[in-house]
Amino acid sequence: MDEKKTMLSGIKPSGDLTLGSYLGPLHHWPKMIEEYDCYYFMADLHAITVRQNPADLRRRTLEQLAQYIACGLDPEKCTLFIQSHVHQHAELGWVLNCYAMFGELSRMTQFKDKSARNADNINGGLFTYPCLMAADILLYQPDFIPVGDDQRQHVELARNIVQRFNGVYGDVFKMPEPYIPKVGARIMSLTNPAAKMSKSDNGDTGRVTLMDDPNVIMKQFKRAITDSDTERCVRYDPENKPGVANLMTIYSSATGRSFAEIEREFDGLGYGKFKPAVGEAVVEMLRPIQEEARRIMADKAYLEGVYRAGAEKASRTAEKTLRKVYKKVGFVAR
Ligand code: ATP
Ligand code: MG
Repeated sequence: MDEKKTMLSGIKPSGDLTLGSYLGPLHHWPKMIEEYDCYYFMADLHAITVRQNPADLRRRTLEQLAQYIACGLDPEKCTLFIQSHVHQHAELGWVLNCYAMFGELSRMTQFKDKSARNADNINGGLFTYPCLMAADILLYQPDFIPVGDDQRQHVELARNIVQRFNGVYGDVFKMPEPYIPKVGARIMSLTNPAAKMSKSDNGDTGRVTLMDDPNVIMKQFKRAITDSDTERCVRYDPENKPGVANLMTIYSSATGRSFAEIEREFDGLGYGKFKPAVGEAVVEMLRPIQEEARRIMADKAYLEGVYRAGAEKASRTAEKTLRKVYKKVGFVAR
């Protein structure tokens, strides 16, 4: 029997999807669905570790689903669901909390970052969410998980939990392997090339969202930080010219051109020509996605059908794992 390998990934609806969300994870996903049994979800449970406006969260969750589909995730070929619709995530998350150590969780850089940014709301969820993330992964027994660099540490934690849990109870969970795509792995803020482009950081003024108006996109690129050296030439040097390197990464992802080709294309032209060219490439890349997302968003009944079917399918898989875990730890069967 040809068993497809399983893969899973999710994004929090904590802000509008950005160019970073797209060129990082999202744009690799449609290629995967032909080859793998893929689960993609809207991580709304994770979103509330930071205070959300309820109406915005609801709207963004549905928009994110429409955008997933518009980016090429055909609901007939993969499983698309809303995390809170599959109750097994929260349930396994609790169990795994009891198999992760305080010290481990304290070392998570995301916890340190997010608590620094949300000093007035350092809640328990912010601290333990890597356990929920481990549950997201382990419920589906995926062969690997595509993640950005910033999530590598969480996958490591999930692996530690697997080792610990399986060590006690036998082979319950499959060991997950991170898969970090090379090009476009990390898109930085256009105004601060030292920080990644973030969808929820209010201080990030260098963000471009998937649904931004072309005029806004062009404006963002025209004011993008390049560098302060006097050379003013388009050359890939992430150490010394991180802003330019970031723009080159974006341009390369949008056009398929290599860094060498880009250097040749803008040889002697300076940043005045380069920055708007990157903006235009991004506008053209996003145009069909924006049109499709708007069309899908208008069809509420279709969207509802997609997320209902997705939750049902995901629940079936997740329940198998959860039942096994409950039995192993000693819960009485219902
Ligand atoms: P938040 O600010 O709320 O944490 P985020 O923009 O960091 O949002 P996440 O939902 O935390 O997004 O991440 C979802 C996925 O997108 C992760 O795999 C993450 O690595 C990836 N990702 C997020 N931002 C970028 C970026 N700028 N470049 C590349 N990948 C990114
Ligand atoms: Mg993040």
